[in-house]
Parts: sequence; C-alpha cells; structure tokens
Amino acid sequence: MPGVQLASALPHAWPIENHRNAALPVDSPEFFDEGTLIAVLTTQPLDRTLDYKAPEGGCHLGAFIEVPLGPRKVLGVVWGPGRGDFDLSKIRAAIRVLDAAPMREEMRAFLSRTAAYTLTPMPAMLRLATRAPGLGDPPSMRKIYRRGGTDPDRMTDARRRVLEALRDYGDLSFTLRELSEMAGVTTSVVKGLVKQGTVHEEDSPRDLPFPRLDPGRAGKTLTDDQQGAVDHIAKAISEERYETTLLRGVTGSGKTEVYLEAVAAVLRKGRQALVLLPEIALTAEFLKRVEARFGARPAEWHSGATMTERRRVWRMVGEGQAQLVIGARSALFLPYRDLGLIVVDEEHDTSYKQEDGVLYNARDMAVLRASLNAASVVLASATPSLESWANGQSGKYTRLDLPGRFGAAVLPDMRAIDMRAERMEPGRWISPTLRAAVEDRMAKGEQALLFINRRGYAPTTLCRACGHQIGCDHCDARMVEHRFLKRLMCHQCGETKPMPEACPSCGAEGRLAPVGPGIERLAEEAEALFPDARRAVLSSDMYSSARALKAEIEGIAEGGADIIIGTQIVAKGHNFPNLTLVGVIDSDLGLQGSDLRAAERTFQLMRQVSGRAGRAETPGTALLQTYQPDHPVMRAIVAGDEESFWQAEAREREAAGVPPYGRMAGIILSGTDVAQVFDLGNHLARANRPLLAVGAQVYGPAPAPIARVRGRHRVRLLVKAAKGVALQRALAEWVGQVQIKGDLRLSVDIDPQSFY
Ligand code: ADP
Ligand code: ZN
Repeated sequence: MPGVQLASALPHAWPIENHRNAALPVDSPEFFDEGTLIAVLTTQPLDRTLDYKAPEGGCHLGAFIEVPLGPRKVLGVVWGPGRGDFDLSKIRAAIRVLDAAPMREEMRAFLSRTAAYTLTPMPAMLRLATRAPGLGDPPSMRKIYRRGGTDPDRMTDARRRVLEALRDYGDLSFTLRELSEMAGVTTSVVKGLVKQGTVHEEDSPRDLPFPRLDPGRAGKTLTDDQQGAVDHIAKAISEERYETTLLRGVTGSGKTEVYLEAVAAVLRKGRQALVLLPEIALTAEFLKRVEARFGARPAEWHSGATMTERRRVWRMVGEGQAQLVIGARSALFLPYRDLGLIVVDEEHDTSYKQEDGVLYNARDMAVLRASLNAASVVLASATPSLESWANGQSGKYTRLDLPGRFGAAVLPDMRAIDMRAERMEPGRWISPTLRAAVEDRMAKGEQALLFINRRGYAPTTLCRACGHQIGCDHCDARMVEHRFLKRLMCHQCGETKPMPEACPSCGAEGRLAPVGPGIERLAEEAEALFPDARRAVLSSDMYSSARALKAEIEGIAEGGADIIIGTQIVAKGHNFPNLTLVGVIDSDLGLQGSDLRAAERTFQLMRQVSGRAGRAETPGTALLQTYQPDHPVMRAIVAGDEESFWQAEAREREAAGVPPYGRMAGIILSGTDVAQVFDLGNHLARANRPLLAVGAQVYGPAPAPIARVRGRHRVRLLVKAAKGVALQRALAEWVGQVQIKGDLRLSVDIDPQSFY
C-alpha cells in the first residue's frame, strides 16, 4: 500500500524544523497575548508552520485553534512563537481557541520525534493525533434525570421504584432510558414525575467522564513469580521513571494478571494507563476481565467505535477523566494528560506496524512515548519479536520470565508429522495420522482445531488445458477462489470477479481447476472425513463484522463445535478450554519466501496455535504437518526450545547485518507509467552520495514483490546501514534531491516489516 507521500512536502523540512521547535527553551512564552505572532501547525499538507495573530483572549502554547486558510477554516495547534518571516500586514488572526485541553509539551515532542523517525510530514502526524470528529464543537447535549425537591402527589408502585433507583445510586444521574430500565417502569412514569418536580430533568454534555476505576479492589492472589514481576514493574512506576520490561511467559502463565496489577499501581499514583492490543484481541471477554478487576469499564479505542464514542474518549483522556484506555495501535496518539504506563500485549504481533499512511510501529513508538514522559512500558508476549528479545539480552529492556502455566495445564506436546512418509491422495491435505488424532478427540468429546493460514478455497486457479493461472487485472497477484462468496478475489487490492466458464487465455471450457488448499477447501475435506462432527469455520472474511466473528468465537469456546477450522485469527489470544488438539495443515508456508522475518513468524505462529491446545486441565497435543521436519525452525518448535531458536536466528541476522543488528529502510516508488517509475528509481540509486557518506548501501531498483497494485507499478529500493548510523538524516537528504512529478509517489518505510 502506498505510504506517506512526500511529493508535496519536502521530507526533510519537517522533522528537522520541528526538532528545534520541540526543544524550545523553557523560558519561551507559554502564553500568547491577543494579536502576538504565533506559529501554527495545521493538518493541511504544507511544509511549514504558518504565522497567525493570536485570537481574541490570547492562547496557550499547544492550544487547539481554528485558523483561516484561504477561504476555509482549518484545525491547528499553536506550535510556538511566530516565525515573522512573512509580510506582517498580510497575517490573519486565528479565529478561536477550541474547547479542548492544549496539547502537552511531551505530546508535541512525541509527534516531532515520531515524524523525524518515520520521515513523516508533521501535518500527517497531527491528523493522526486528532482522529476524533468535531473536536472543536461545543459538546452536544442530552437530557439527564436526577432526584428533584418535591414529593409526588400520589405514590404508586411504579413511582416508588423510580425513587428507589435514584436513592440507591446517590448522586448519579441517568438518561431517561437508563432510569426507566433500572426501575422497570415505562418512560411515561418518569416523565410524570418530572412534571411534578419529583424528578429533575436537565441538559448535560454528552461527553461524560468515564467512571472512576478502583485499583483497591482485590485482584487474584498471585504466585511468587507473578508477584515478583509485579513488584519489579511497580517499583519503576512508583519512582516515576522510564523503564521497559519484556514480560515473557507462555499463554496462560498469567501475563495479563501481572500487567493488570501494574495498571493498578499506576492508577494509585493518579496517572493514566494504556493497554494496547491487536485489534482482534479487543474482545468483550477481555473488557469484562478488566471491569471485574477495577469495578468499572475502561475507555475503549478501536475501529468499531462510533464517532461520538471516539470524541468522548479523546476529550476525556485529555482532561484526565479516563484513567485507563484499552485500545488498538492508534490509541498511542491520544492526548493523555499524564500517561504513566503503556502495556503492549502480544508485542510481536505484526498488526502493530501500520502499513498505510504514517508507517509507524506502535510497539517502538510506545517505548519512545514512555521515555518522554517518565512512564513504564510492559511488552507482553509468549513469543517476543527478535528485536525485543535482543533488547532483553543487551539489557536495554528488563526481561522477566513467568515460568509455566497457571494451574494444572502444561504446554502442549508438540510433534511433527513427516508428510513425506504419509500416503496422501491428490487434493487432500489432512494426513492419515492427523485424521486418526482428530477421531480420537471426537471420541473423547474434546475439541480439535485444524489450522491453515490461507483464506479462500484455493490460492490458485489453473487451466489444465494451457497451464494459465488466473491473475488479477490490476495487480501482479493471483486471484484466489472464494467459493463462500462465489467469486475470485485478489488479496492484494480486493478486486473480485466471477469464476469464468472458460479459460481467459486459451478459451478451453470446463478445464479450470483449483490448486492448493485454502480454509474453505479444508472445511470441505473435514466435512467428508468427519461427517458427524459439528464444524465451525473461522476466517475473518466470512463474517460481516468483527462483532459477529467475536460472538462466533465465544460460542465455540463454550463448546459450540467439535472441530474448528481456522486461519490465523484463532491464533490470537482466545481461550478454548476444551481444545486439546491442534493440527497445523501446512507448517512450511511461512518458511518460504524472501521475507527476513519468515522464520520468526513461523515460529511465533506455531507456538501460538499450539498454545490454543490444553488451556484448562487437559493437556493438549499439537501436530505439525511438514515436508521439512529437519529445518532448524521446525526442530526448535517441536523441541519447545525457544532460546536456541532465538540464538540461532540472532546469529544469522547478525552475520547478514540486518535488523535488529543493522538498519533497514524501504523506498517504494509507484506510478502508472512503469518506465517513469524505473527512471526515478535509477536516478535515486545513482544519487546515492548522501547514503555513501554514512556507509549505507542501496539495493535496487527492483520490482517490488507485488509489482503492480491497482494499476500502479511499484518499484522498490532497499537501504541497509550499520546500527548507530543516523539513517533518517541521510535518507531525507537523499530523497530530497529528487523532484517527484506527475502521478509518481515515493514513500519511505523505516524498519520495514514486509517488503512490498
Ligand atoms: P496470559 O496473559 O499469560 O495468557 P492470563 O493472565 O490470562 O495469562 O492467565 C491465564 C488464566 O489463569 C486466566 O484465567 C487467569 O485469570 C488465571 N490466573 C493466572 N494467574 C492466576 C492467579 N495467580 N490466581 C488465579 N488465577 C490466575
Ligand atoms: Zn488486484
């Protein structure tokens, strides 16, 4: 996907400029009187701050304001004193200060530093930090109800219940629906009481503070290891100093219990906490657990939230009226009043890397954010990323290990099924060994999971007459058959088309055949092999909403299916207490390809899916079908030997000088004219002097692994440098040399996760 577009803004102007701004001397004015010159950062794609006159009543440094820009009014933040390099007579006055807490200094520093690190223009950073609609609007109002002064003329049963409800909840106020539901009466009963003055009706802003959380409620009694981890983390929290802890422990070892106690510690300090989760792990189950610990619901921030909810969270976080936010990636950019702790759960999860727009890694930026605010970070994972593991080894992060699983359950017994020795019929993917194991579980009334990390029916549709493979018209990707949707789909651009009757290349009819397995095809095979089992298929594209998917997962966990057939969505943090067998259909998938993290991903995924088995008292088994049982990664997984996997992987990366032992950046160029894109790439490759100056090498241009997306050709350059090199500065100078014209686009991806 195209990243940040630098075409319209000089890439180096922003970060360097704002670095200076972020480090304003402490005696710089914090308040600007009406009419004084102020520099304003707007959300518009400009390469500098703009000068305005401070609005009526003056404004604070960091204030959110509305300013005129041409004929429009736009959102901005007061970034410092005006630059004064513009015709004074033409400078316009800011319109008004918005009703929101001014952006704090550490937030301004955080945005500047993230911009500098990711080479993102500041306006794009500000957009990321203001993703709540109607920030400047006065909050919308609603009617609320509380106890009034007078008694009713006549007491009825229904009326008594209303008064009791109001009495039981003391000074709280309710909406009409809440109150009538609580009292079990119709709304007209409440309205009748309003007429009498017994119940008081008033207007109140919709953006209400979040209920107070109570860290004093009793948590679980922790094991010694868990308590030791809590004590360590809580020490840094109580001393209000920056520290990052890598909390490692298998699924079920109590990592969540530990970090909830860290949250309690930070709440006791009166500071705020943020728990980041991969979007899919933001379940009702998890929120209930948090609510049970603290006695009230925390604030939530995710893609499913309504605009009103988002605005409420954004404002209340800024006013310190939301103590705990449970959120996806972008919750990192909320305007916390005093953030004291960031937890990144499943820290290795690839969804923390934003692959569109501002290309940042939320895990790494969480560490930056915390270091700017004397806050703690807890990175929790059963299978940490190699980056975090290495930081643990070097002492940059404190590594805490939780041994074993809480309670009786133990890690599943892991075994490889050597597919070379299995008798497989063509078009079949479940080996006789795996089949027998599934049947055994069925007989015992336990659950089995068949895991395949491929959506759709078959990854390839092949013409048996001419060998043609159906591809996407817009991309260089093959179309994946989705029988469930009765269409072919491109997983790159989302384009779909009906399955053709005849081969688009040779015209032969009825010769198109599916090749390879996808989850839908596996489901078909499971139906044929286990006709009497209740089967559930879990693939993200089969559900209309995340909510429907979560409901399905919860139903399955409660015993709603015997066999679960799932893609990677089941690998992420859900408990299946009755699941005792995991069969991984194609363990080799991730070992192939040119991705530098392929081995690491395979390792993590295998450990995670295997971690689904045997959560409760019954120990589980994981069977991994593989054609490469001797591959070092397979061996490490099966042996359960994590340290030796990491050590081997670290040695290989160190030898190759790649992250985390070297630095990398990807440059993606795209455009509709392939020759122009390559010209630009070649030009950049030749203009490599700024890179040579810091000893960095540039590779390419080469077609990106996905060389065409939505009709745009994509070319990639890869930059490698030694650790410790000021790579961003060199990159900014390097790409700043070229003019990017027409429909060409250039985006920089620091620490690329995937190479397309
Ligand atoms: P993880 O986050 O490492 O997967 P959890 O914190 O979710 O582990 O713990 C797994 C299960 O064990 C949860 O149901 C949790 O409530 C329970 N558990 C963990 N530690 C304790 C404890 N000390 N006392 C009681 N239950 C615990
Ligand atoms: Zn496509």
